Amino acid sequence: MKIAQIIVDNKCKETDRVYSYLIPQGLEIKIGHRVIVPFGRANKKIAGYVVGLKSNTELEINKLKAIAGLPSNDIFLSADMLKLIKWMREKYLCYYIEAIHGALPANIRIKNTYIYELNQDSKNIDLLKEGNPQALMDVLEFMEENGGRATKEELRDNFNDNILENAVKKLIKLGVLKRHQKVKSQENIMYERFVYPDAEKAEIPANAKKQRLLMDIVGSKPGISIKALQKDYAIGKATIDNLLSKGFIRIEEKEAYRLVPEKIQAESKKILTKEQCRAFGEIEECFKKGRHVLLHGVTGSGKTEIYLQLIEAELKKGKQGIVLVPEISLTPQMIRRFVSRFGDTVAVLHSGLSNGEKYDEWRRIAEGKAKVAIGARSAIFAPFEKLGIIIIDEEHENTYKSETRPKYDAREVAMKRCDIEGARLLLGSATPSIESYFKATNKLNNMALVSINTRVNNKVMPNVKIVDMREELKAGNKSIFSHSLAEEIKIALGQKDQIILFLNRRGYSTFVSCRSCGFVAKCPNCNISLTYHAKGNYLTCHYCGYSRPNPKECPSCKSSYIKYFGIGTQRVEREFQSTFDDIDVLRMDADTTTRKNSHKLILDKFRNKEASVLIGTQMIGKGHDFSDVTLVGIITSDTYLNLPDFRAGEKTFQMVTQSAGRAGRGDKPGTVIIQTYSPEHYSLLYAKNHDYEGFYKDEIKMRKEMNYPPFSHLGHIVISGIGEDAVVKAAKEAGRSLNKLRGDNSNIEIWGPSPAPLSRINNRHRWQLVLKSVKEEEVLKILRDFNNSAFLNSEEVSVSMDINPLNML
Ligand code: ADP
Ligand code: ZN
Ligand code: ZN
Repeated sequence: MKIAQIIVDNKCKETDRVYSYLIPQGLEIKIGHRVIVPFGRANKKIAGYVVGLKSNTELEINKLKAIAGLPSNDIFLSADMLKLIKWMREKYLCYYIEAIHGALPANIRIKNTYIYELNQDSKNIDLLKEGNPQALMDVLEFMEENGGRATKEELRDNFNDNILENAVKKLIKLGVLKRHQKVKSQENIMYERFVYPDAEKAEIPANAKKQRLLMDIVGSKPGISIKALQKDYAIGKATIDNLLSKGFIRIEEKEAYRLVPEKIQAESKKILTKEQCRAFGEIEECFKKGRHVLLHGVTGSGKTEIYLQLIEAELKKGKQGIVLVPEISLTPQMIRRFVSRFGDTVAVLHSGLSNGEKYDEWRRIAEGKAKVAIGARSAIFAPFEKLGIIIIDEEHENTYKSETRPKYDAREVAMKRCDIEGARLLLGSATPSIESYFKATNKLNNMALVSINTRVNNKVMPNVKIVDMREELKAGNKSIFSHSLAEEIKIALGQKDQIILFLNRRGYSTFVSCRSCGFVAKCPNCNISLTYHAKGNYLTCHYCGYSRPNPKECPSCKSSYIKYFGIGTQRVEREFQSTFDDIDVLRMDADTTTRKNSHKLILDKFRNKEASVLIGTQMIGKGHDFSDVTLVGIITSDTYLNLPDFRAGEKTFQMVTQSAGRAGRGDKPGTVIIQTYSPEHYSLLYAKNHDYEGFYKDEIKMRKEMNYPPFSHLGHIVISGIGEDAVVKAAKEAGRSLNKLRGDNSNIEIWGPSPAPLSRINNRHRWQLVLKSVKEEEVLKILRDFNNSAFLNSEEVSVSMDINPLNML
């Protein structure tokens, strides 16, 4: 008799363990199989994953239940992947099943879904159509196009998640949408149907024109797909059915893949420049010694070509590679380069794909048809068997850290996966995260540093100018464009060059600053900006809870130009058009990118020169290579500078350097204008001089003084709920509980409770607590113990936890 050890698909603390089930006679069960098991008192049939096999057990055999079914023979999780999953559960405080779900495409999960239906009679539909938020209108329009019904997955496939959730909620509230009961959804392999002739019987009467046409086509092209018949020859279903029933044709079904790859011209391999060659050689040396590498190469230094050739080298050895990019919808160019080099051996995995498409790509990898996977964070779990290399581009990006459970950091997972599977890891960036650079320069985690300090073919770095907005105010300029920026815009427009204008807005960063002298109120304990709270008119620190009244006049220069800060993209667009004669402008922000492919459409338009100017939030600052952009203007660098976050300096340096890196990539040199009220800030000065190392030295010194990461590890606890009193009460209770758990261990600091920077989301109040220790294991231990304490399971509040978050919002 044999016993399978199984993790059941039931997301809950109590069932987060390995169960034993009997393997019934006749079923050949392997590790990594997905099975159906009876579960709980009612023996409900649910999915489970086989993680181990045994021939005996200490448990009483006759009390064990038996596996109820094996829906497919696929191995969903390799032994190595199971090791990774086990590690993730410990490291990110998640359940086994959450880690498994994180590693598998959504379609593989057998789960419940919702159906939404449009209430056609609702009077609110017409009301809505008059000047309401674009997102609501887009969802409404989609529902209408879709015949008034859509599953949750269909909506997800077409909209960006953050937008969708709110829009759907509002539409339901307005009575425009109805949500129906759950239905089962399951993975679906798409089958395409192909038509073959059965010639002997084909005696079609002369007047049946369509039928004759169909027989002719099928005769000359046996095996043509039904899709092609319908699309290219306008042959309808009725004709096909008719001939099928007469037995004149037969249909064969074959497994098909949904994603039709863009036809891309093959890009030839470039001969590496001398600098690229040196870097490539150094990387190979490190790899030979079994080290991981951080590649620090300035913007335009040709990192992508190095990635391509590293992958090629692995493919030659019969191995496979994964390339992670921050968010593919923002970097279509990067995929294009990989597909053009490696053709259909490339699988693309990103949020812009429908679940079905993602599942197909996952299968192409699992079946060994794809050898290179390029994708966003979750592509780190691509099911390769002989993984040779993982490359993480723009490794400093926050998107590599998941903000939903499992809250993993793809860079850490990559390192672990490489260690388990004997693969190589390359992190690349023009502005490495402080943590990675610290590791690489101190040879921690077996990491080495390789640098490239010049652009390809010694193209010059852009000329960066910092503009002091306080001086503009003194000179009577109240426009959002400084005199210098306006001049440069005119020059660029005159030369028919392209311009990118950045507005670095973060909804929550409502800091208060003085337009006259640049003063920003900071916490005396934590060295981070205080956040303005309109209710109660006070300023507070989100780390330690310090607060003070909002000043009426500037404590530094006594002026009354002290206000909280905020400019929107629409305002920039309006002011641009009124200042510079209705020039064509493209805007990219949350409002113009509700649809999944909208980023790409906007970027393509800009690339095709349908507009001279692109205005957008930080989302346009990443990785693009537009050769005709000669001017980049950063309208508001201060919103980053004054984030209530100890990483404000790092994020500012990265944002400015990356944005500046978009200028002057073609033949003409580039210019960058940074507008700020803090022109002397070290992040801006180092970014102006393209001096990463200088910036790093100052930043790491501050981190050490304040004992912030990488010198310490943080645990983040957020308590949220509808009722503010209940949240505050629970937060205080959590504080007492953490204090008890800490005991007399003075190495662990506890901050808060204090209101979270995003103090209210979807009507839920949010408070936070932060744990800090030099030892990661100490933070994890307290978080685990805290998680097991009883009071958390209340109906009024919910608690979420994170280890080493990149955003403490
Ligand atoms: P990075 O990723 O470091 O910002 P890219 O890989 O985008 O830089 O390279 C910048 C530009 O230089 C691109 O237009 C690329 O096509 C070009 N390039 C890169 N390597 C070479 C090479 N060896 N020879 C000629 N052009 C190159
Ligand atoms: Zn002032
Ligand atoms: Zn503080």
